[in-house]
Amino acid sequence: MENARRNGEINTPYFANIDIKEYLGHNKFKSSMHLFVKGDNMKHTKLGSKYFVRIDKGEEVVASLHKFCTDNGLKSGSVIGIGAADRITIGSFNTVTKEYHNKELTGEYEITNLTGNITQKNGEVYLHLHITLGDEEYNAHGGHLNQCWISGTCELIIDAVDGEIGRVTDDYSGLNLWEL
Ligand code: FE
Repeated sequence: MENARRNGEINTPYFANIDIKEYLGHNKFKSSMHLFVKGDNMKHTKLGSKYFVRIDKGEEVVASLHKFCTDNGLKSGSVIGIGAADRITIGSFNTVTKEYHNKELTGEYEITNLTGNITQKNGEVYLHLHITLGDEEYNAHGGHLNQCWISGTCELIIDAVDGEIGRVTDDYSGLNLWEL
């Protein structure tokens, strides 16, 4: 990462290769959206098996985390986080219609909890993240996390484990389930 910064690659756009339609794992999601993240502004350190990752203002969490896991060879683990964000897209999956409904939130939000796991699908990092946000009236909003743009900071702790958990698309639910 330091070499990349010295070589002036910090502003190179990173294509996180996340196609939301594929990412959500069912074919009723109409729009196809790719996530991009500008540069590589994450800072991190490793203590034991845990990575402490800081994502700064203006960066997008899902794509940044995807890049971090890919760059560092993290194939399985869990992630928790807190922070502040000003544009967030959360989803809710209807298990009857098997459709995702998405909602964009803009404004001042505390990331009161971000929880998720890191697995693999088709040889690539697959993130499943949920988020709970607090607005300025202390109301909570939550759902499946699709995008989260940081306004203050984001502090993630990643607990990486050896081994690999895959994903398989379940025809009944339309979801990408753990392959166990
Ligand atoms: Fe989910």
